Order: sequence, then structure tokens, then C-alpha cells
Amino acid sequence: MKPATRFEFLNLDKVNAPYAGAIEEAVLRVVRSGRYVGGPEVEALESRLCSLTGAPYAVGVSNGLDALRLILRAYMAMGVMAEGDEVIVPANTYIATVLAVSDAGLRPVLVEPEASTSNLDPARVEEAVTPRTRAIMTVHLYGKVSWNATMADVARRHGLKVIEDNAQAIGAHSDTPGLYGHTVTGALGDAAGFSFYPTKNIGAIGDAGAVTTHDARLARTVRALANYGADRRYHNIYQGYNCRLDPVQAAVLSCKLPFTDQENDLRRRLASVYCAGIMNPKISLPRLTADHVFHQFVVHVADREAFTGYLDDNGIGWDIHYAVPPHLQPCYAATLGKEYAGRLPVTESLASSCVSLPISRCISEDDAREIAAIINRF
Ligand SMILES: *Cc1c(COP(=O)(O)O)cnc(C)c1O
Repeated sequence: MKPATRFEFLNLDKVNAPYAGAIEEAVLRVVRSGRYVGGPEVEALESRLCSLTGAPYAVGVSNGLDALRLILRAYMAMGVMAEGDEVIVPANTYIATVLAVSDAGLRPVLVEPEASTSNLDPARVEEAVTPRTRAIMTVHLYGKVSWNATMADVARRHGLKVIEDNAQAIGAHSDTPGLYGHTVTGALGDAAGFSFYPTKNIGAIGDAGAVTTHDARLARTVRALANYGADRRYHNIYQGYNCRLDPVQAAVLSCKLPFTDQENDLRRRLASVYCAGIMNPKISLPRLTADHVFHQFVVHVADREAFTGYLDDNGIGWDIHYAVPPHLQPCYAATLGKEYAGRLPVTESLASSCVSLPISRCISEDDAREIAAIINRF
């Protein structure tokens, strides 16, 4: 029998415990308001997101995947991109990034990560640019900012849009200023997609997402597309979708968003305990840089099965983000799978060696010290 888990990987009830009273009040407020689609709760969250990121426009949407899809569909509606155009994405990402691109009828061009950060390798971005490239969709994977002067330079010289997949790095600060001089994720490029999936650093109590942007026209287009393509009531200028943010989720998120820095600091403190405490040559650690908000604390280990078995034996929760990279998923077997067979060794090696350790309110700093000590005996 597997021993009981002493250190939970994640328990959303505990994650939300400090906000429980406020969340219940917020839900009740929406119930009693009679405004169940759109309205002041959604608008309030949008303005909070603008303040948090520095981006001038924000649009609440249904989830993170829809946020990315809507950005791309909006650029297509605006004539900035057309079917068959290429979007550079990291090969090492959660599949939603790639799904957004292929769903819009665009071509995902997969670029290898740097092994040291798991993020898009800036040195390889320019090699991937062709006359059909229209955008770089950078992903701040695990909460580590994926932005630097090389990427900015490539985007500027080739006239590419920069879209951030900011599902994992809300409130993170970049060392390099963005295209418009901002430093917080969500305001670094032209547009960004956020996810408030319950497990993210700031999570809703269901699905929720948002788009932030520096482009007023893009914001208007995303808003219209997410609302049946209507720019005003019963006036549909696009064949749109229904991808609006639920005001219940908006109200819940307004309770949590003001505490983004505190939430990220809690994760960073646990990460610093791990980084100082884990000293085992079999385990390679992420770097504790200032531009990392540790959505996940991901280590790499050659013999993953032995390591996760050892964690199980010691009651330490773990997870894998992500075991199978997008190009090896069955849905892309006939397309990306063929195109990239054997061409993404860094991505595949990271996927086969990654293990995520607990990094949430479910464990204390003392717990993290104990986990580190146990890992050192592996
Ligand atoms: C969670 C996530 C998404 C998708 O967000 P949903 O709200 O679950 O649709 C997209 N990209 C990345 C990197 C994610 O982690």
C-alpha cells in the first residue's frame, strides 16, 4: 500500500482558504445583483488587470485557451494575419498554446527551449522566421518570464506581433522591458492571454481568462468576437463566438487579484527553500531568478520513475508538467508529429525528465526544508 501523502501537491480548498469569506460574499453579491452576463463585476476585473499589468486594455474572456484563440482570430479579422500564416511557439509548452494557433487555421512553428530555463531559446527564434511568419507567441512556462532583447529585436526587425501566453506568470517582472516599455507580464508584447484556471497562481472557482493588449482596435475586435461577433446589440460584424467571462468568476477574481504579489512571494519563498536545500547531483534545479513566479517548481532527473517512486514512498506529492509534448500528442500525429519527428531533442528530453514538486499554500517553509532533506537522501 502507498503511504499517506504527508505533503500534498495541491489542494484548492486550502489554496483558497484565506479568501473563503470574501469569495462567498462575492458570489452572493452576483447572485443578488441580477447581472449574470457582463456588467460591473467584469468591468471591475478588467480595470484591475490593466492596473496590475500596465496594459491599457483588458477584456475578460471564458478561459485561457479562448484568450489566445481570440487574439489570433482578431488579428485575422483585422487583416494582420491570414490562414496559413506562421506563428512561432515554443515546442515545450502546454498544448493549449499550440491548439490556439492550429484552431485559427495558422501554422504553429515549433522552436526548441533552452534546457536551463525550459523556455523558448531566443537564439533559435530568428532561424524559424520565414516570409509567412506573423507572430511570436512566447510562453512564460512555469512562471518564468520568457522575454529578452534578442526576441524584441527579432520581432521589431521582422515586423512580428508578440503575443504572451501568460497563463502561468501573472504578476511576474521582466528584466528586459517590453515592446512598449513595460516590465510586467501581460504588457510586454502586443497582446497577452491569461488563464484563471483554478490551479493557476491566481485561480477562479471555475474556468476564466482574459486578454490584455496595447492595441485599442485589437481589444475592440476581441470583445466583439467573444460576444457573437457583435460590435453593438444585434449588429454582428463578425461570425463570432460566445467566450465571455462569467461575472461570478470576475467577482471571485477581484478578491484575489490584489494579492497577486503576496501569492507569488509565497511561491518564491518556497522555491528559495528548495533551491538552498536540495543538493543532490541527480536532481537539477531551476534557477531562482527575480523574473520567476514559480507557477510550478520543476526539477529534472534522469531516472524519473525511481525518483517519483521514492517521493511516493516518502509521502511527497508530485506531478509532471508535461509528460508528452504537443507534437507527440495523437491529435498532431499526422501533422506536427511528422514534421518535427526527431527534430526536437531538447523538448523531448525535458518532457521525459521533468518532475514538479509541491509549491503552494498546502506546504509550509518547514515542510519544504523537510522535503529537500528527503530528496537529498534519494
Ligand atoms: C493553463 C494554460 C493554458 C490554458 O488555459 P485554460 O484557462 O485552461 O484554457 C494555456 N497555456 C498555458 C501555458 C497554460 O498553462
